[in-house]
Amino acid sequence: NIQSGDIITVPIHGSMLQNRDKLIRVNKLLYGEDEANAAYWADFILWLLANVPQYRNGNHPIFSFNAYSQTSLDFYPFGTIPPKIALGDGIIAPYADLGFGDVAPQAIFAHEYGHQVQFQNEVFSGGTADPEFTRRTELMADGFAAYYLSHARGASMQWKRVQQFLQVFYNLGDCYFDSYTHHGTPAQRMAAAEWGYRLADNAQKQGHILTSSQFIALFDASLPKILGR
Ligand SMILES: [Zn+2]
Repeated sequence: NIQSGDIITVPIHGSMLQNRDKLIRVNKLLYGEDEANAAYWADFILWLLANVPQYRNGNHPIFSFNAYSQTSLDFYPFGTIPPKIALGDGIIAPYADLGFGDVAPQAIFAHEYGHQVQFQNEVFSGGTADPEFTRRTELMADGFAAYYLSHARGASMQWKRVQQFLQVFYNLGDCYFDSYTHHGTPAQRMAAAEWGYRLADNAQKQGHILTSSQFIALFDASLPKILGR
């Protein structure tokens, strides 16, 4: 029950590094370079792509191994950036290669969409950068994702199949997609996902979808159990 109409989803392509005009624009906007310096660094990146075959012309997954969600923001003087979910080729393609192409994109997107639900419910307001705060919001996003993926009126996926993917996904480590801080251990992330699945499984009998604030309240009540204490 959030406003989803203005959320945009964009890909992250490493091949963007081949585009001199875009490199110059990014250098100017984000790093404050003047035209000459921005062009210097753009040409340096193009030189690297041309001379280091391991970079695969920008298509090495290291350049796009990421997925993230951001809230709307004013980027003065250029305008307002709408709420956005970005999914990198470097994270989507390898899971397809591993045989998870039927579930990985949905699951990764659902986790990031969970952050959009949090933005609109102001779950992040008053937040700190400490690991416990991040762990709560990340585990909650895992719970939202599992709820959506398994719910009969969501992606309606077989939970066994989702679990197979999550076992790989969560065990890759903790964690890297959209935060440099603590996402929860693999066991805690799986516990949060199982919790979301059970919530959906129970709701299916009534064909009911919880509001986001109901979901958040239920999650917070269960968080100590998910954390294993
Ligand atoms: Zn996250």
